[in-house]
Amino acid sequence: MCYAIPGQVKEIEGKRITLDYFGKQKKAINELNNLTIGDYVYAQAGYIVEKLPRDEAKEILVSWREIFFHLNDIDLKLSQSPQVKSVNSNIIPIIRKIEQGLSLDKSECLELLSLKDKEDMQIFFRSANLLRQKFHQNACCVHGIIEISNHCRRNCYYCGISCYNQSLKRYRMRSDEILSAASKAVKKYRFKALVLQAGEDSGLSIEELVSIVAEIKRKLSVFIVVSFGEIGIYGLRELYKAGARGILLRFETSNPLLYSRICPGHSLDSRIKLIREAKDAGYLIITGSLLGIPGQTNNDIINDINLAKELDAEMLSFGPFLPHPNTPLAKELPPDESLILKTLALARCLGQPDSSIVVTTAFETLSKEARYNGFLSGANSLMLNVTPLKYRPFYSIYPNRAHQNESLEEQIEDAALLLKSLGRVNI
Ligand code: SAH
Repeated sequence: MCYAIPGQVKEIEGKRITLDYFGKQKKAINELNNLTIGDYVYAQAGYIVEKLPRDEAKEILVSWREIFFHLNDIDLKLSQSPQVKSVNSNIIPIIRKIEQGLSLDKSECLELLSLKDKEDMQIFFRSANLLRQKFHQNACCVHGIIEISNHCRRNCYYCGISCYNQSLKRYRMRSDEILSAASKAVKKYRFKALVLQAGEDSGLSIEELVSIVAEIKRKLSVFIVVSFGEIGIYGLRELYKAGARGILLRFETSNPLLYSRICPGHSLDSRIKLIREAKDAGYLIITGSLLGIPGQTNNDIINDINLAKELDAEMLSFGPFLPHPNTPLAKELPPDESLILKTLALARCLGQPDSSIVVTTAFETLSKEARYNGFLSGANSLMLNVTPLKYRPFYSIYPNRAHQNESLEEQIEDAALLLKSLGRVNI
């Protein structure tokens, strides 16, 4: 968003570009023509999305120079805050292993996920935050999400927009509405990455989705992530040709038995297969699972993190299950905030070092402190809701979603304040 900073092209090796941000180097993939060394660009999610006129970029960078180093210092200080003193001796050897970059075994992961003592947890979160700092420095990404339709043919037990919810008013945004929401986000608020999400909507054909993506790509410089459920590899390939480069598709749980209980009649294998095919087709992968679904164990959560790693996901999305009153799981309870933080921290320790970890809106709905605490436990990514306000209440995957009634301006102001207070920059 408007918090993004232009980088300067330092090296070009085919599609692989090295960018410089005030001396800090980052890699990105380039698909633009005519990029030369010395050019200034915006990159997001590891892709170059836009080239800027040099004068304009230099002017923007002047205003960033001082603040950039200041933010870097804030992040460094926060991540190296002194450790609390009294510590349960069991976790110290595990923390040392994390700090030395050694891999953890199952029993150590279980120990971390079952921590109850607040100080122990703080020590664990701190070590995950240190790892995040080591691999990402203070870089974070902020994507916008447009929920283009809440029609869904699926019967997932947890989801408030599944076909079970007969009382929900359904909507499908027209293409001109989608384009105008995307245009406002990109042109007015300078978002560099947008997620287009929908239920599995039988009323939206692949051709329609393709034409929406193609139109956005034709008119706007933005990285597009698609999240339309299991639309099949043919559809994904077509969307890739139209310009989509990321896919957000959670496997929801790595446990096939649990999956068959919460998505009756659907197969976990085919969902995972589609994620693998999307990777092979060239997509950047955003995936993860629901935490706290009835019957899930800590062992399942460790397997979830390992599955996301095996799928080579660039961004991990683990968030709480929040019961929706009009679903078969209405009477279940949401998980504790600490389980989410422990999972984010463990994902940081077990996952690919360079993957991003998102603080989900579901987590923000569960806890007011989700962003702040999540960002200090290994997370480094946010999504803001760019869906027009009039549609938001109807994308009711769970009740009382955070930011549901906040204008985009308010959300941006809030996010920028938080990122500044944590010393993070959107690069
Ligand atoms: N059709 C798309 C989008 C589904 S909604 C897809 O299948 O990917 C996006 C995500 O919301 C889901 O993947 C699910 O993990 C999450 N979600 C759905 N119901 C939820 C609930 N009750 N609590 C928390 N997250 C939920």
